[in-house]
Amino acid sequence: MSEHPDLGKLKERLGEISDLRGAQSLLGWDQRTIMPQKGAGVRASRIATLGKISHDLFVADETGQLLDSLTELEQSLPFDSDDASLIRVTRRDYEKAKVIPTELTVAFSLAESAGYQAWVEARATSDYTILLPHLERIVELHRQAIALHRAANEEVEDDYDILLDDYEPGLKASEVSRVFDLLKNATIPLVEHIRAKPDAVDDSLVHGDFPVETQRSLVTTLARRLGYTDDAWRLDTTQHPFASSMSTQDIRITTRYYPDFLNPALFGTMHEFGHGLYEHGVSPELERTPLCRGASMAFHESQSRMWENLIGRGRPFWDYGLPELKRAFPDHFAGADEDAIYRAVNKFGPSLIRVEADELTYNLHIIIRFELERDIFSGTVPLADLPAAWNAKVQEYLGIDVPDDAQGVLQDVHWGSGAFGYFPTYALGNVVAAQLWERIARDLPDLDGDVSRGDFGPLRDWLGENIHRHGRKFGPNQLLERVVGVDRFDPQPLVRYLTTKVEGLYGA
Ligand code: ZN
Repeated sequence: MSEHPDLGKLKERLGEISDLRGAQSLLGWDQRTIMPQKGAGVRASRIATLGKISHDLFVADETGQLLDSLTELEQSLPFDSDDASLIRVTRRDYEKAKVIPTELTVAFSLAESAGYQAWVEARATSDYTILLPHLERIVELHRQAIALHRAANEEVEDDYDILLDDYEPGLKASEVSRVFDLLKNATIPLVEHIRAKPDAVDDSLVHGDFPVETQRSLVTTLARRLGYTDDAWRLDTTQHPFASSMSTQDIRITTRYYPDFLNPALFGTMHEFGHGLYEHGVSPELERTPLCRGASMAFHESQSRMWENLIGRGRPFWDYGLPELKRAFPDHFAGADEDAIYRAVNKFGPSLIRVEADELTYNLHIIIRFELERDIFSGTVPLADLPAAWNAKVQEYLGIDVPDDAQGVLQDVHWGSGAFGYFPTYALGNVVAAQLWERIARDLPDLDGDVSRGDFGPLRDWLGENIHRHGRKFGPNQLLERVVGVDRFDPQPLVRYLTTKVEGLYGA
């Protein structure tokens, strides 16, 4: 059967848009890794211009006409076929993108760049008043966008749903609240349990003198063992680690090295490897289409967290990992055994900084941000009062005082650069990882044995077959339904996992 001519035209158009976005992504990777600092000014324009051209091409009437003419074809094809999925997902993106006029897109882009610069300065000086006017501008623009989306879609229940939808298609704020309340109620007693035994876990093994070049060679060896290959991946150094891909065969991951602390490079690399493997595993048939990405940010994060935490901070991994550490740093690890390194990488306890938090308290950091975002958009917390509201929640949930805003409300880049609605996906990533993990444990009964031998092939294959190859064909709920048989985020597997882990380390 020959292809519908309009389907060919749509694919050609989406392919060109994908080419522009790939070029934009490469410029962004370069900016964050090797570009000389002074290149930033003109680079911002280069990236913005490519973004504007691809946006204009996408929202053009021709895209809508092609989608209209393909409705019948879409209905005649199986839901999970590549072509039906391409038409369905593109239509959803198109209808959403069209609501926002180009002027508002440009206003967002300018406000986000200015907000980012202000955030850098505000954090360096711990002065929230530098960021405040930028946050006010960004929130005002979001309110305008929300009003436009509401005018276009009467079914919107909650303003916050619109913010979430950019990162987690179809997710509702009420659903996030349900999941987070369960998670919060299960987490707080465990945190209190840990606080009563602050010296139960000794993490001195991961602190010491670790020359950066040796760390680099260690994490490269590790990444290759996990599935990184030199002909399709790169590993570079950056201040704020990230993963990006120019195609399924061009995966860029980054990490950072602390000369006196192993965890950032070790677990940062495993985390970004998980993101990279997802993009690398998307079916080649979906290359140069909008489907050639992860299902959602929570699904993406589930993959990075799985490699970082469920594998990297699990006991079986250290049967394989400790000999590697001993090869790299023979003196430091001379007397260490597998249980000691397992405990050292699993020290729990409340702390101020989200990105340094343990697996348990991490979710509370996210819940604090989600609740504050809700309060900002409902108007209960005026932006001027945000630092005080932040500090009160940190005291309530984590039991610690925030000494200054740099270690409090100013620690994350997200709000200053416009990303409201993003934070929940981090904790939901942990939720999804645990949901998948229970399924994987049933499907791969010798997974622990494989991991302790340093054989990650069976897990890689399972993830590729069940998740990665589908790219963005299915929404997060559809994918959960297919893989674990439950069509929603369920925090219970994560609660079970964390309870077992904390009790194993800190006693029941
Ligand atoms: Zn991540």
